[in-house]
Amino acid sequence: MRENILADRMKGFSGSQTSGMRNRARKLRAQGVHVVNFAAGELDQDTSASIKAAAHKAIDSGRTQYTDTLGISELRERIAQSISQKAGQTYAAEEVGFTAGAKQALFNASFVLFQPGDEVIIPAPYWVTLPEQVRLAGATPIALPTERHGFQIDVAELAQCITPRTRGIILNTPHNPTGVVYSADLLGKIAGLVLRHDLICIFDECYDELVYAPAVHQNIVKIVPEMKARTVLIGSLSKSYCMAGWRAGFFAAPQPIVKAIGNLQSHIASNPSNLVQYAALNAFDPENDAFVEGNRKQLAAQRATALELIRKIPGLPCVVPQGAFYLFPDVRSLFQKSFNGRRVENVDVLAEMLLEHAHVAMVPGSAFGAENHLRISYAIPTGEIVAGLTRLGQFVQSLL
Ligand code: PMP
Repeated sequence: MRENILADRMKGFSGSQTSGMRNRARKLRAQGVHVVNFAAGELDQDTSASIKAAAHKAIDSGRTQYTDTLGISELRERIAQSISQKAGQTYAAEEVGFTAGAKQALFNASFVLFQPGDEVIIPAPYWVTLPEQVRLAGATPIALPTERHGFQIDVAELAQCITPRTRGIILNTPHNPTGVVYSADLLGKIAGLVLRHDLICIFDECYDELVYAPAVHQNIVKIVPEMKARTVLIGSLSKSYCMAGWRAGFFAAPQPIVKAIGNLQSHIASNPSNLVQYAALNAFDPENDAFVEGNRKQLAAQRATALELIRKIPGLPCVVPQGAFYLFPDVRSLFQKSFNGRRVENVDVLAEMLLEHAHVAMVPGSAFGAENHLRISYAIPTGEIVAGLTRLGQFVQSLL
């Protein structure tokens, strides 16, 4: 047997750390330990009854065949309508597609757009999967640090990152893991650079409906219509519709890109689940608007509780998140302190200790390119938020 059985492209490639922490928390729970799980990337809530009923109906009426690779035409029409509204530009059904989660849409987009030699700018911290997908496409992700600017993009620094090799930029607003939301003014300036340097923009707005007043989500195509010709918009039903496990995402892009994504997808997984497409069709129905609104309201209350509690813990400054459902406190003041004689050397050790000794699962910022932060998902019941952040506070106090 050859020493290295795997292809070179898998060198240094590891699984998603966010899933890793979730799995460890699940294992401890199975042993009977009450773990407060702040590591989830989804709402702690069931899908709406009407979406579930639509899926039942699809099963009962035999929607069990393959479909077109990018989805049934009714669904593509409906997605196009929804994106047209959000982007303030008309998108035709041929300019959109449905995928098994936004993750698949993002992978497909990077794979058909980027190649070896290309550089792709990704503001850091970033959702863990984005740079990996760029690497899988053979291109080089270039991290643009944002921490010094409260996780906002500094346009002058972005301009400095652009080289003759730069092919694109991947933006995510509302942002995972920091919760920041990009303003219309900022997106307008970024669009200016994208246009001037002939770049492509992948615009991940998976959390677009989970924004807390006075913040407002902004769509880059709506702000700068010329961006339509060079932007891939990415959306998801995982978060606002509580459909993470169904795998339901979508995208909109210029037709040649949509065609290439369809071709790629046809050789990888064919169509996303036929049944899920009917569930998604129902999700887009206005009857679910109240469900999303309820989720947003609930998250706003959970956010307030989480923020109040984290502020009481000394030494953990935290940017106020304006969207999504994460706190991303700076935990570096805890490094080099000790618990039971063991030093907190870095954020990975801290996350391990928190799981082991405080029974709270949080994702270390290292997974997102931020070594001094922890990601705390507050999309869990209020009682759990209180219990978990109280344990975090007690753990911090017990450090010497
Ligand atoms: N983009 C971001 C920023 C995310 O946080 C996530 C999910 N954690 C996704 C994309 C993928 O979502 P989906 O479940 O639709 O694949």
